[in-house]
Amino acid sequence: MADLKFSIVIPIYNEEENIPELYSRLTHALKELGSYEIIFVDDGSTDRSFPLLKEIAGNDRSVKLMKFSRNFGQHPAINAGFLQASGEYMVLMDADLQDDPADIKKLYDEIKEGYDIVFTQIENSETSLFKKFNSLIFHFIFARLSGANTPPNIGTFRMFTRKVLRSINRYHERRIVFGPLMAFVGFSRTYLKVRKNKRTKGVTNYSFLKLFQMAIDSLSTYTMVPLSFMIYSGFFIASMSFAIAMYFIVKKITLGIAVSGYASIIIAIFFLSGVILLSLGIVGDYIFRIYQEVLNRPRFLIDETLNIDDPQGEFDEKA
Ligand code: UDP
Ligand code: MG
Repeated sequence: MADLKFSIVIPIYNEEENIPELYSRLTHALKELGSYEIIFVDDGSTDRSFPLLKEIAGNDRSVKLMKFSRNFGQHPAINAGFLQASGEYMVLMDADLQDDPADIKKLYDEIKEGYDIVFTQIENSETSLFKKFNSLIFHFIFARLSGANTPPNIGTFRMFTRKVLRSINRYHERRIVFGPLMAFVGFSRTYLKVRKNKRTKGVTNYSFLKLFQMAIDSLSTYTMVPLSFMIYSGFFIASMSFAIAMYFIVKKITLGIAVSGYASIIIAIFFLSGVILLSLGIVGDYIFRIYQEVLNRPRFLIDETLNIDDPQGEFDEKA
């Protein structure tokens, strides 16, 4: 369908309390903008999200629905949605109404100016201080080290063109994360300041551990930081040891003083063992990632679909 204007992609995990309002506010906002499809990807919800979505999709042909066979994660869900999107402009947003569907119009106004991606930049401070602190630190490290030049506080909510979609659909990595990926792909971009609301219903699906894992993923797949760390620390320790060895040798030769001390030996052993273990861990991490890519397992499995052209559960995620 080349004449379809908007594709809204929304990953859903246990959002039963948000779905009815999300759907009504979305359709209200979209109706005046043009033709659209809403692609809901149920990421293995365990509450009543899927029955609710099924009812909606049963009454509205512009709602496409997929259900994963289990919880695969927000980004695989986004991925599945993107592979089905066929509009001229894509909108990515969360289901929890932290983003206001009415802001889609503002995104559209920006993209009409000729940009390929319109990111949202969150200007208010409804998120917890802790989360903000983490995201600032991460942004600082990531932006500096990966060379992706984005401002801080970028939200999930964004609009981009079909051209950008085609490009990001060419990324086939297993542990795909769309935040850094879309910072990385280039294209002309602009940033729209929006307010992000507090989550009023349901709970956040992200623990500190999950966020930390995502930060590590991003650093190791988009930068060389962990490997550079090994190279530089190895170089540093080697030169330090060399300098110290020279110092003792010169002392012995010129002054005839015997080299003494357990402490220095023990410290050197512990220090070096620590660095070696850490480095082994980093190498192991990369090997594991390579192994996962080699296995080439599917990033998600489809259990059920509605209003999707593909035969049930068979669409090729590499399309
Ligand atoms: N989500 C998902 N699978 C998951 C976790 C989250 O599809 O395993 C969806 C969730 O339903 C929401 C979006 O991803 O639409 C963002 O999740 P959440 O609001 O919990 O994240 P936060 O805003 O707290 O970072
Ligand atoms: Mg949220």
